[in-house]
Amino acid sequence: MMTKDRLRQLTGDERLGQMRESEYLGAEDIDDGVEPVLTIAGLWYGSVTLQRGKENKDVLSFTEERVPGVMQVRPLIVNSTNRKTLRKLFGDAKASTLVGKQIQLFVDHNVRDPQDGGMTDGIRIRPYKPRVQKQEPVPPCTDCGQEITPAMGKDARWLAGYTIKHYGVPLCAACAQKRKEAASAAETQQEAETAAETQRELDPEHIQVDPETGEVL
Ligand SMILES: [Zn+2]
Repeated sequence: MMTKDRLRQLTGDERLGQMRESEYLGAEDIDDGVEPVLTIAGLWYGSVTLQRGKENKDVLSFTEERVPGVMQVRPLIVNSTNRKTLRKLFGDAKASTLVGKQIQLFVDHNVRDPQDGGMTDGIRIRPYKPRVQKQEPVPPCTDCGQEITPAMGKDARWLAGYTIKHYGVPLCAACAQKRKEAASAAETQQEAETAAETQRELDPEHIQVDPETGEVL
């Protein structure tokens, strides 16, 4: 695509809405259907820059930098609905109470847009404590038997899923790399053998002629 503007093509996991210049978590940051569980790291108050100008706001920061379904966990501006939910959940909204607590977020599609009065998406806090998500433990690496650890910006669960899909077994990043190299070496070997065979067939010394009839065998 060519325009006179300087655009950068998004690839892979990058998504629309992610590049907007907001310092704060927005509904666009959360994958459809995901309800991220985040740990409150701190409570903040001050002038924040919004599309409509600067306003004094309450803000929550979180311990997690990224969780499944959220590429980048940014601080959350706390509106009055969410402030009420926090009070309901934990009894009060004091820093000493809230820091270290886990909350479950979801995207509410029926939030009144303060700018145009229409409906928009907004982040809400579930009015119940996060349910412990029962997940199968991540299997160990089939090749080295070690625990699969996060690598290349992907968590262990993602790596296990990816390698099962591509190699049929869960692998750590190092073993997946080895298998990839082995596969490409085997391919090169195969090509070399095919080339050698072709060479042999074309080699005049290998052409046998029937001494009686003179026919090429
Ligand atoms: Zn391994």
